[in-house]
Amino acid sequence: MWNRHEKEKSVNVQVLLRCRPFSEDEVRNNAPQVVTCNEYQREVAVSQNIAGKHIDRVFTFDKVFGPSAQQKDLYDQAIIPIVNEVLEGFNCTIFAYGQTGTGKTYTMEGECKRSKVLANRPSGVIPRAVKQIFDMLESQNAEYSVKVTFLELYNEEITDLLALDDLSKGSIEDRQKKQLPLMEDGKGGVLVRGLEEEIVTSASEIFALLERGSAKRRTAETLLNKQSSRSHSLFSITIHIKEANTEGEELIKCGKLNLVDLAGSENISRSGAREGRAREAGEINKSLLTLGRVISALVEHLGHVPYRDSKLTRLLRDSLGGRTKTCIIATVSPAVHCLEETLSTLDYAHRAK
Ligand code: ADP
Ligand code: MG
Repeated sequence: MWNRHEKEKSVNVQVLLRCRPFSEDEVRNNAPQVVTCNEYQREVAVSQNIAGKHIDRVFTFDKVFGPSAQQKDLYDQAIIPIVNEVLEGFNCTIFAYGQTGTGKTYTMEGECKRSKVLANRPSGVIPRAVKQIFDMLESQNAEYSVKVTFLELYNEEITDLLALDDLSKGSIEDRQKKQLPLMEDGKGGVLVRGLEEEIVTSASEIFALLERGSAKRRTAETLLNKQSSRSHSLFSITIHIKEANTEGEELIKCGKLNLVDLAGSENISRSGAREGRAREAGEINKSLLTLGRVISALVEHLGHVPYRDSKLTRLLRDSLGGRTKTCIIATVSPAVHCLEETLSTLDYAHRAK
């Protein structure tokens, strides 16, 4: 699956396409369908005929998940092997990319179940990955440690979603001081100064942290007038496993999984059209646009990879390229009113192949 061009260098970027079902509103309004998925052929067709305008395009991806694909289908078919890589000691990143309202958060987190969350959490990629990781660790006899971080990137500014500060107190300026600086760690990597790293010992502990982080994200949205469609969230799990080799020497395997719910891709096209004149538009863009360039550079094996051009790519530098695996889940709507954004998502995702 990874060695797409087997005779060329191996490519460690996998691109999946998921098309959500019609929403109740779309069904009620009889919204015409313009996207058709052929999972078997791994193809997505977009066709639309309005007087004088005819669109007919077909895109191929590594995997295609149509409207009836369940969370488990996507996870079992595409994500399990990635999490296995992490448990083998590699760094991997999974992105959800697409227009707002097409199912990025649904795919990554799942339905928002506010109560009794901890009972049997799985639904989206994050809780399923957490469960796979702990099921595997607990079935082994090895010593291990797991830590998680959860942050939000908004306008190139980093907020800790796990920090227990009360956003409703203090002035706007005070609250904005909660942004954390991204610094070089002197060893070629970066570190976010002051970011909470929670040591966890069970899947349900992580589910509780996720819930806390998501609740904080919602509060910040309201209090600080943020627009959730413009922020990226990055949830990272780092796993250390102590093992002995056949000679009885101790080895430590360290793997990291990054799970990224990206800002709505419509922000690229809209602010791109304005050439980033407004500061905000420029900043929203920066991480999403740079991510596209970084992935293109990796896929095309260009010498220069512009990691340094945005905070998101600086944060993920140790997990993009080299011996890492990257998976982009592009999400689209089947309906005609999203047609333009759907085409731009398909183009962006297709370029990453
Ligand atoms: P985004 O995060 O991209 O803005 P959401 O994940 O919030 O989009 O999804 C928008 C709405 O569509 C939500 O109500 C969500 O539950 C629903 N939805 C998205 N994808 C699916 C899917 N594959 N199956 C069922 N419902 C979905
Ligand atoms: Mg969302």
